[in-house]
Amino acid sequence: MKKYQLFVDGDWVDPDGGTWTDTVDPYRGEAWAQIPLGNQNDVTRAVSAARRAMTDGPWSSMSASARGKIMRRLGDLVLANADHLAAVEVRDNGKLLAEVNGQLASLAEVWYYYAGFADKIQGSTIPIEKSDSVAFTYREPIGVVAALTAWNSPLWFAAVKCAPALAAGCTVIVKPSEFASASTLEFAELTRQAGFPAGVFNVVTGLGPDVGSALVEHPDVAKITFTGSDTTGAQVYESAARTMKRVSLELGGKSPNIVFEDADLDKAATGVVSGIFGASGQMCSAGSRLLVHSSIKDAFTEKLVEIARSIRLGDPNDPLTNVGPIATPPQYRKVLDYIDIANAEGARCLLGGKPASGSDLTGGQFIEPTIYTDVTNDMRIAQEEVFGPILSIIEFEDEKHAIALGNDVAYGLVAGVWTENVGRALRMSKALDVGTVWVNTYRTYSYMVPFGGTKQSGLGREHGIEAVDGYLDTKSIVIATDDGAPSNAFVMR
Ligand code: NAD
Repeated sequence: MKKYQLFVDGDWVDPDGGTWTDTVDPYRGEAWAQIPLGNQNDVTRAVSAARRAMTDGPWSSMSASARGKIMRRLGDLVLANADHLAAVEVRDNGKLLAEVNGQLASLAEVWYYYAGFADKIQGSTIPIEKSDSVAFTYREPIGVVAALTAWNSPLWFAAVKCAPALAAGCTVIVKPSEFASASTLEFAELTRQAGFPAGVFNVVTGLGPDVGSALVEHPDVAKITFTGSDTTGAQVYESAARTMKRVSLELGGKSPNIVFEDADLDKAATGVVSGIFGASGQMCSAGSRLLVHSSIKDAFTEKLVEIARSIRLGDPNDPLTNVGPIATPPQYRKVLDYIDIANAEGARCLLGGKPASGSDLTGGQFIEPTIYTDVTNDMRIAQEEVFGPILSIIEFEDEKHAIALGNDVAYGLVAGVWTENVGRALRMSKALDVGTVWVNTYRTYSYMVPFGGTKQSGLGREHGIEAVDGYLDTKSIVIATDDGAPSNAFVMR
């Protein structure tokens, strides 16, 4: 069984405590590798290395173009090693190979895109009102960044956090989820081959309450960029406040997919099904609430059930598989608990509602694609994030009603709107209190388009130009240009 090490200060090292944990293939239910369980000493070592590389090390003295060049080389290495990285990630979290391959194709582009920013970060000159002074700004890296990531797309999260941070001139420590750390560790080797100086990119694996919280509490970490649950996100936010860290949080969702009577219903049905059952619903952007106009509810529901019934569960590496296993044992139990909750609340199960079985599913944690109707928006199944393959159907009467239902949750990550009416699409996009609205499409991500949530879905934006801003501080410089005549320095202004 492969035994991984931590990647600290440009080297592979054993964890300080000398302990490892098994990482399990969720399809076969078998341990396949061992992941180091880091501790506070490992965090201290990584933060010191990252700080050295940042303040008096090679990263800060290197030209911005040279930093960009290393990042482009990393993009090339990601492309060259895409098959291997994808295979490791699928083995670790059970996501479909087809889906991970798609992500890997964009992953290299993420590195190229942000590499291009490295030498284009610049301050401004300010036409200050004082005629005897000039003023300008520098845009400076904020410092050491700790990236805490979730298990559903570890390589993607590491890229969209670290690429803008490194372009800005920061150094980073990644703490992947203890349930899927292997691909991030494999990726670390590529950073070494790309030529990143020691300490610029580090990976410390381990448990959230040990490694994660040690990073959040460390006074030399300037920013926490976090992807995970809202409960952990709130703890991280609170704890980071004690050392006044910058924080960005990508949290959960209870996103509405809103289908109007004038929509292309075949297209909408496919979008709704893949929006909730893709990745077994283990997506922050899962369209877990279908809001459908009352006049088409029955016909549309029939269409959905028909499509969902044909979903093929199975080996995530098989190109014919549509839906893979649930990635972790706690997540599997949580989804089953929500099925009990929905039944107890009086929602009517139209499809699924139980673990899936079959000879090729043995050993894996599979749950049947599940559809509930007669759901009201006040039920827990309509309000709480399940992070699994459960769709709740809720009907609405008109646009106003759809907006009210769409916004009536604690979350505000994304929404889907299906309509052929452009005016309606624009009205809905404005009225929905979410970070992203997809119209006549769903889960159309781009690393160029800002992504993040409102309300309990988080703080800050990733992707696009805005992401780089999140890793920069502005320093203002004001210089007196008078000719040496007595100054008015003692006049209080
Ligand atoms: P999680 O909150 O359990 O863990 C996220 C990360 O935080 C992990 O690395 C974990 O080890 C670490 N952690 C745990 N406890 C910690 C602590 N006390 N201090 C510091 N770090 C700690 O989330 P998860 O189960 O890995 O991921 C699922 C959640 O992630 C879902 O709620 C989902 O919606 C969310 N998510 C959000 C996005 C987004 O972009 N908005 C994307 C994917 C997943």
